[in-house]
Amino acid sequence: MLRVSHTSCCGRFEWASEGGHFFVLRSTDDGGYEETGRGLYRQAIDVYVTLAEHHRAEHLRRRERPGPDTFLRERAWRG
Ligand SMILES: [Zn+2]
Repeated sequence: MLRVSHTSCCGRFEWASEGGHFFVLRSTDDGGYEETGRGLYRQAIDVYVTLAEHHRAEHLRRRERPGPDTFLRERAWRG
């Protein structure tokens, strides 16, 4: 069973888990999703954070305010 628990700014990436595996769904130009970074929790987190922070940096470079990212926010709360 696929579970999506977090969605990034702009809905660009989603954090998902399925049967003990974790991965990131990345939205594609045709409106679908492709899977990336499947692996253990730690590995998939690294992929998600790298992608999400890159996306956030693009907003900042365009002088836009990045949207909410529930995943990064929770990580910030936990330290
Ligand atoms: Zn965004």
